[in-house]
Amino acid sequence: MKVLVLNCGSSSVKFQLTETSPELAAAGQDRLLARGLIDRIGEIAFVPDHEHAVRRALASLTDPQHGALARLEEIDAVGHRMVHGGESFGEAVLIDDAVLNSIEACTPLAPLHNPHNLTGYHASRRLLPHARHVAVFDTAFHHTLPPKAYTFGLPFQLAARYRLRRFGFHGTSHRYLALRFAEIHGSAPEEFRLVTCHLGNGCSMCAIERGRSVDCSLGFTTMGGLLMGTRSGDVDAGAILQLMSWQGLSPERMQEVLYKESGLYGISGLSNDVRTLLEHSRAGHERARLALEVFCYGIQKYIGAYHAVLGGADAVIFSAGIGENAPEIRAAVCEPLAGLGIRLDPARNAQAIGVEMDISAADATVRVWVIPTNEELLIARDTVHCLSRVAPWHNS
Ligand code: ADP
Repeated sequence: MKVLVLNCGSSSVKFQLTETSPELAAAGQDRLLARGLIDRIGEIAFVPDHEHAVRRALASLTDPQHGALARLEEIDAVGHRMVHGGESFGEAVLIDDAVLNSIEACTPLAPLHNPHNLTGYHASRRLLPHARHVAVFDTAFHHTLPPKAYTFGLPFQLAARYRLRRFGFHGTSHRYLALRFAEIHGSAPEEFRLVTCHLGNGCSMCAIERGRSVDCSLGFTTMGGLLMGTRSGDVDAGAILQLMSWQGLSPERMQEVLYKESGLYGISGLSNDVRTLLEHSRAGHERARLALEVFCYGIQKYIGAYHAVLGGADAVIFSAGIGENAPEIRAAVCEPLAGLGIRLDPARNAQAIGVEMDISAADATVRVWVIPTNEELLIARDTVHCLSRVAPWHNS
């Protein structure tokens, strides 16, 4: 079965075409047919919006010279990354009107993501009406969080009425890392206690106990936990209330400050990009250095906390843009954690750029790995699993 995975962000569409089935997935024999990225949506004339971006992605798949497909009708299913599924979805679902309504209801909780995920869905539904469309949620993996991890210290009735709780995000990525780590070790995920660090534009950490998510640093929205590119991470709620009052900020304006003007960018006043901040920090830029220190310190604290939550961890795994490509950040995070048995091999750490590698020292008791994430592969697999559950299986 040919599955197109669409991951639509605010200004980009990532796509991947995979040949897979429950049997191929079980044997690890899914075949990547094509992948690509259309970015700068809205900035350049030939991709003014998501519909044009999806059109371009599809055109590249059917390009007469380099395309992986002769006709778009060969695409059997589309797997859509959906960031916030709230409490409704513990697994992938076939998209219908009721599902769409539920996703739309979660939009205020993921304002940077859900609207773009939905725009991409509507565009691809119009362009691929013959295909079956499945939603795969970032929140689904965290449905196993116990009440002590997801309950906020707010009045119980109020929290229940508005479903104010920790949902957790980047679930597909954290789950991929746990599956891949087990696969590398020729074992099942149930054998391991893992701390996974997804460090991209959005950042989150997850405590995974024997294949199940038991805690995640992101909470009710995609704003909490670690410092991120432009998002604040955890800030004392009292500070936010005072700021709103002192500056006369509306909730909408405050949301913009916390999502788009804070984080690494907010502290440094320079950039949300770790590459730029590393360069400026080396050149003596004080606030670039401070932003990176705050970032690394947050990750360190979560590693310590999740180590405690899990009663000891077998491994810490770094992934996503920063986790996969920034040895300096991994070194700064791990250096103070020797007391937990976490020690890096500096040469291996320096070598591990965008590749799968054990970067721990020989005497480390907690292994440290770099594993490039592959959310798209898992979304393709979840899509075929969902279809084999809800619809009579057919091979095409
Ligand atoms: P997204 O969350 O949008 O999928 P990515 O996982 O691609 O993002 O991560 C993007 C971030 O990764 C960039 O903002 C940048 O900070 C960081 N990054 C990418 N390459 C490097 C690198 N070589 N060194 C340090 N940081 C990097």
